[in-house]
Amino acid sequence: MRIQTDEARCEGHGLCADVAPEVYDLDDDAVVVLRHEVLPENLGAKAEAGARACPVAALRVIA
Ligand code: SF4
Repeated sequence: MRIQTDEARCEGHGLCADVAPEVYDLDDDAVVVLRHEVLPENLGAKAEAGARACPVAALRVIA
């Protein structure tokens, strides 16, 4: 399972990081960054919840 991020689309609202702080963070420019290069198995549901929270669909979790 991995996460595809579309940094160009990200508007830095931070909802993903609010919902799943274990998975998502924002950099100094308020663009989403992933906390893990390889997503740990146990964070799959969190990753999906964070992706669903994104208002501009900048995150995609790929099984
Ligand atoms: S919720 Fe979407 S727009 Fe907001 S920081 Fe996360 S990826 Fe970016």
